[in-house]
Amino acid sequence: MDKISIIVPCYNEEKVLSAFYRETSAAVADIEGAQCEFIFVDDGSRDHTPDILQSLSCADHRCKYISFSRNFGKEAAMYAGLQNASGDYCVFMDADLQHPPALLKEMYHAVKNEGYDCCAGLREDRTGEGRLRNFLSHSFYRIINRMCRLDMTDGAGDFRMMSRTMADSVLELKEYNRYMKGIFSFVGFDTKWIPFHNVERAAGETKWNFRSLFRYAVDGILSFSSAPATLAGSAGMFLVIAAVITALCTVLSGHPIAGTSLIVCLILFLSGIQMFFISILGQYISRDYMESKKRPIYIVKKKGGF
Ligand code: UDP
Ligand code: MG
Repeated sequence: MDKISIIVPCYNEEKVLSAFYRETSAAVADIEGAQCEFIFVDDGSRDHTPDILQSLSCADHRCKYISFSRNFGKEAAMYAGLQNASGDYCVFMDADLQHPPALLKEMYHAVKNEGYDCCAGLREDRTGEGRLRNFLSHSFYRIINRMCRLDMTDGAGDFRMMSRTMADSVLELKEYNRYMKGIFSFVGFDTKWIPFHNVERAAGETKWNFRSLFRYAVDGILSFSSAPATLAGSAGMFLVIAAVITALCTVLSGHPIAGTSLIVCLILFLSGIQMFFISILGQYISRDYMESKKRPIYIVKKKGGF
């Protein structure tokens, strides 16, 4: 019988965990030829999430949990879950029931019988997310796909079931700055997409705000593309040409006062551009610095059920 590891990153999810466990267990019971294990990763929750996970693991031997010493982020939690999963197939699911457990059966069928290495949920809409977040998400995917040579599908989340071969390939990428959507795309493999309608979180609150989403988007671009740094060269060339043309125009027009204020504007503009690109280079260097330290991606405080 096949084993499916269901990896669930949890950060302050006390309100939804029981419902998640109930609904997902029921969905798995419906899958013929497979049993499951739950790997819950408590990402430094400050509510009763760790207690709930402990009682789940006492009540059901299929439930295992790992508690981090602090909040390391969803990417770290997913990595920890995958490292501790022993299944023939591994699937990532959010704890808030936004990833419909009913799709597990179809996903398993696709990776088991249809020759796919991966089967992923594809959100068809972003109902309940707000127009601005919606617009920014679409723009982000357009930008990242243009900058990176990878295809990152708009609407593709982390909800996906993978074969053991693909899971092992994902584990091979041990980088500190992790951007899972990029990593999935980087490792390749054949993916089947199953569209599903966005549902609102069953209870509790989202852990993301505009600031954290923006940081996440920048992380994604910088992790998989060096295009922003290359842009400095093109902008530099453009500004040099613009400066020569402005200088020529000023000299030929013969209006020294107008020319002086124009030059002041140009100096300010050029300083701004330079600082902007220095900060981009700084971002790459700081990421390289963090990688070179080889710090652990997460630190475990407690484990249970293994
Ligand atoms: N999560 C996590 N660590 C974090 C933030 C989120 O493990 O620092 C988990 C969270 O508990 C949930 C999943 O990641 O299971 C998705 O988070 P959320 O629902 O807040 O994101 P959204 O669906 O709003 O994008
Ligand atoms: Mg959610």
